Amino acid sequence: MREPILLTPGPLTTSLATKTAMLTDWGSWDSRFKALTASVCHDLLAIAGGLDSHVCVPLQGSGTFAVEAAVANLVPRDGKLLVLAGGAYGQRMADIARYLGRPYSVYATADDSAPDAATLAMLLHDDPAITHVGLVHCETSTGMLNPLPELAAAVHAAGRRLIVDAMSSFGALPIDVAALHIDALVASSNKCLEGVPGMGFVIVNQASLAQSAGNSHSLALDLHAQQQYLHASGQWRYTPPTHVVAALRAALDQYLAEGGQPARLARYAANARLLADTLQAGGLRPFLPPALQAPIILTFHAPAHPDYRFATFYEAVREQGFVLYPGKLTTQETFRVGCIGAIDHAEIGQAGHVIVSILRQLGWLA
Ligand SMILES: *Cc1c(COP(=O)(O)O)cnc(C)c1O
Repeated sequence: MREPILLTPGPLTTSLATKTAMLTDWGSWDSRFKALTASVCHDLLAIAGGLDSHVCVPLQGSGTFAVEAAVANLVPRDGKLLVLAGGAYGQRMADIARYLGRPYSVYATADDSAPDAATLAMLLHDDPAITHVGLVHCETSTGMLNPLPELAAAVHAAGRRLIVDAMSSFGALPIDVAALHIDALVASSNKCLEGVPGMGFVIVNQASLAQSAGNSHSLALDLHAQQQYLHASGQWRYTPPTHVVAALRAALDQYLAEGGQPARLARYAANARLLADTLQAGGLRPFLPPALQAPIILTFHAPAHPDYRFATFYEAVREQGFVLYPGKLTTQETFRVGCIGAIDHAEIGQAGHVIVSILRQLGWLA
């Protein structure tokens, strides 16, 4: 039996080479594992364009742990974070600030519209207490792409610092942390890099990390301490997710062999196009206007039929070998289909066909 194909934005479908890289047990103190960590961090930093200005600090846990660590370390206790929130992940960053007791405010936008740089500049001008801006690059709750270069320029012009949650875009969409003056970029092993879940990382400006000593309220999430320990010993501070790091090394080898970021983006963009074309030809409507849609995950309106149930639809598609994602909007019934992972035209073409024909069989689509 073939395993189902995950059309979900991480965990996602990984290649056989990435899975088999997990068949070795590593000692965390062993020089070979130290070299593995160093090579992974080097490549992540290179992909981010931060080799001369930034440092890559890996962290155990899912992506949210790394976002929380970035906010905890970089925003001082007397600083203030302005969060640009246009969906669930932006809202999560605001929730993190609230939990950590960091002063914050929110520039909220609707699920289907992007924040704009002129408004951001005005908000920064009006509130001198704001020290940092938090932005989600691709808002995975819909698949919306935020205009990172314009927003980053507004933050830089106002003399503030920018923390970017690039969890679902890093590796596929171009991001240059040095050119965009990004103070910290956060991502994880299990999205566009096509590794397995279990590790996040923060690509952080070297001077900002040095200044952040003592900011963290949390022992385990202290990035400054993690980096000091790694620098001094080559080891992670606490037990590393060894198999996850080995899988990420294998995934990065395949990433580089494929042609790096431009090649990955081209494959995902072709996936997204084929999926959108197939579903729209079948009568389904995309939630976002094309200009705001990143080729990472697509959101569609559920069919208008009164009997529509996502759970029934999900199970039927699952029977055919594909795993879908529920919608994440509170106001409208939607479902999501990921375009990322070790999949291309063949799988996406089949998936589109299965989605449409199942909705027709269920009588929910004409
Ligand atoms: C996946 C994701 C996260 C992290 O989610 P975890 O479930 O903690 O891995 C954060 N932000 C965005 C935009 C994401 O897509």
